[in-house]
Amino acid sequence: MVPNLEALNIHSSYVRDILVVPGKFLHLQHLCIGAFTPDYDYFCLASLLDACPSLETFILSAEPDCMEQESVLGDSFHDLRQMPGHMHRNIKDVQIIGFCSAKSMVELTCHILENSKLLKRLKLSTCYNGEILCSYNNNGKCLPMSRGMIMEAHKALLAVERYILGKVPSTVELKVEEPCSRCNALEI
Ligand SMILES: [Zn+2]
Repeated sequence: MVPNLEALNIHSSYVRDILVVPGKFLHLQHLCIGAFTPDYDYFCLASLLDACPSLETFILSAEPDCMEQESVLGDSFHDLRQMPGHMHRNIKDVQIIGFCSAKSMVELTCHILENSKLLKRLKLSTCYNGEILCSYNNNGKCLPMSRGMIMEAHKALLAVERYILGKVPSTVELKVEEPCSRCNALEI
């Protein structure tokens, strides 16, 4: 549709089902996507990545506290879905802001790790206000996170440990951002 587009930011309250045909964004190198419906199936984004053969940077921004999703850590856990035969040849840099334990998000992350041979950096931030940390903020405090957000962040870290770590090749630099232990500690 827009074959020469090289960068795209999609931020809508109604990202639901993105239907794409292969090769739709032939020259797109930078994709930043955010604001999804609470039940959005993040694994569908694998098809979107497939439609962007030149993509180098992919930034996904989610809001775990507004999600209605099955956790990968839940009782009714089944095998993770896979989408074989979808090689993302040029992806080098992936950031997921608001990474959480939602099954579809873990599936998407595993998919990227297994199908992006040139991947260099994967950053998973469990705080969606990840950029505003006390070390950078003028008042010396991180943006406060709700107790629910902090708990979800801890579940996200567990999901990384169980499902992601074992899939990270030695050529990929994995950075996991956790809530600040000084400003957003989990009080039990
Ligand atoms: Zn802090």
